[in-house]
Amino acid sequence: MFALELLARKVLPRWLHGTAWNLYWRSVRPAASVMYHGRRRQCPLCSAQLRRFLAFRGREEEKCPVCGSLKRHRLIWLYFAQRTNLFDGVARKMLHVAPEPPMTQALKEKKEIDYLSTDLNSPFAMARMDITAIDYQDNSFDVIYCSHVLEHIADDLKAMSEFRRILRPGGWAILQVPIIGEKTYSDPAIATPSERQRVYGHHDHKRIYGPDYKQRLESVGFRVDAVPLGREMSSSDVEFYGIDPDEHVYFCRKS
Ligand SMILES: [Zn+2]
Repeated sequence: MFALELLARKVLPRWLHGTAWNLYWRSVRPAASVMYHGRRRQCPLCSAQLRRFLAFRGREEEKCPVCGSLKRHRLIWLYFAQRTNLFDGVARKMLHVAPEPPMTQALKEKKEIDYLSTDLNSPFAMARMDITAIDYQDNSFDVIYCSHVLEHIADDLKAMSEFRRILRPGGWAILQVPIIGEKTYSDPAIATPSERQRVYGHHDHKRIYGPDYKQRLESVGFRVDAVPLGREMSSSDVEFYGIDPDEHVYFCRKS
């Protein structure tokens, strides 16, 4: 799935990327649904009933063989469904930053959502946008979803502040980052890809986040609930839906 995205970026002209994805989606999804059919797992995004999720990048039970969703996507989808108003049938304007194809596909099937995806470079995004200088007026969106992006942004506080600015009163955002440290840490002297890889664990990350990420979001004016959704579910459901029980959902409202 993600290998295809990389291949599409390199080989195909930009105007063909959407067509390539649609062809892949229509041809592979039905075959995978049959090949991996079972009753022990269910993907919340594509509703596939499965024997198991696939191992991916060294992690067991990570990837849906039908739509390509990962644990973090399935966690957020369950949160959307169980804890938010996103699927209540009311029209809402939603901004999806750095769209992951499985999430995009599932969100686009919700016809009541006025959906806009954005990225600086991804061929799958509908618009290009610098999230530290968003070209939208205040109070433009009801919902913002941005996952595993802020760790790549030098001025993450500016991006958080921009998200808050374009969110309508009463709206909400889910802003996820990898939490891998005890405390958020960055050092301006760490400036090369190899140093970032060594210190932050990724050549393009600008910092390591700790649980104080919540206070970082609050510092720009959000009211934040850090919800350990998996811990609030039964262990059988955690296994059934293939999620990480230790991952928190950062649910942000405009206070
Ligand atoms: Zn799926």
